[in-house]
Amino acid sequence: MPDFTDPAQFPAFYELPSDAEIANAPAEGLAGAAWWMLAQVKVNMTLTKPTLIVTDRRGLDFAVTFEDSSMDLKGYRKGYTMVVPRAQRTDREEGKKAVMRIEAKDCKSVQVIPAKMAQLLELGQVLDMMSADDGAEGKVQKCAACGKTEGSLARCTGCGTVRYCSKTCEQECQLKGWSELGHKSNCKSLKAIKTIWPS
Ligand SMILES: [Zn+2]
Ligand SMILES: [Zn+2]
Repeated sequence: MPDFTDPAQFPAFYELPSDAEIANAPAEGLAGAAWWMLAQVKVNMTLTKPTLIVTDRRGLDFAVTFEDSSMDLKGYRKGYTMVVPRAQRTDREEGKKAVMRIEAKDCKSVQVIPAKMAQLLELGQVLDMMSADDGAEGKVQKCAACGKTEGSLARCTGCGTVRYCSKTCEQECQLKGWSELGHKSNCKSLKAIKTIWPS
C-alpha cells in the first residue's frame, strides 16, 4: 500500500537522487529501495524525442524526456499524473535546469493515472480507509455511501476497492456513490493505483 504522504516514498523533484549519486551509490544500498516520482502533466512538448513538461508536488516544473523514441504519450493528458518508479534527476551545468531522462529500457515502467495529483493524494486516503479489506487492525469495513458497517458489503466491480452495503440498499448506495459522491471520476484512478501498487 503506497503512502502518498511519505516524502521518502514519493519525493519531490529536488529530493530525488541525481543520476550521478545513483551511479556512485553502493549497489546494496539501493537494491531494496522503492520510491516513485509523482508529477502532473502540464504540456506535451514532443518535437523529436517524446518530452513532457510536468509539475512536481511542490509546484516545480521540469522536463521529462523518454529515450525510447517510440514511447506513446497519448495517454499522458494534461492534468493527469505520471508515476516514475525509482526516478532520477539529471543535473546539468550551471545555469541549466535539471531534467529527468528516462532510459529506453525504463520507459515501459512509467505509468499514468487519470487524476490530478491533488485528487491522487486524496485517493491515497480512501485506499488507506479501505485497507480494512486487507485485515488492517482497527479498520472497519464501511459502505462508501451511507457509512453502514454491518451486513455484507460488496466491492465496486470497477476498481475492486470501495464497498457498498447489502442487497436492500446496494443499488441506491452504489448509485449515490457513483454520481453524487464522485466515485465515477475516481474509479479508474483507484484501479490504476491498485495495478501499480498491488498490495
Ligand atoms: Zn450503504
Ligand atoms: Zn470503483
